[in-house]
Amino acid sequence: MVKKSKKAVHKKAKKAIAKGSELSCNECGLRVAVVSDCDCVDPCDVMCCGEPMSLAC
Ligand SMILES: [Zn+2]
Repeated sequence: MVKKSKKAVHKKAKKAIAKGSELSCNECGLRVAVVSDCDCVDPCDVMCCGEPMSLAC
């Protein structure tokens, strides 16, 4: 068995952007499909129209 020595220290303040999610822009209505998981250490926002895009369901 492989022992994992690294423990995740960062608590995710925001939900990571997961594969299969859709982001939408509240300004222009652009929708973006997420085809791979976001692996950012810090929360990241996808920007459109100068605003962070929000998750669409
Ligand atoms: Zn936009």
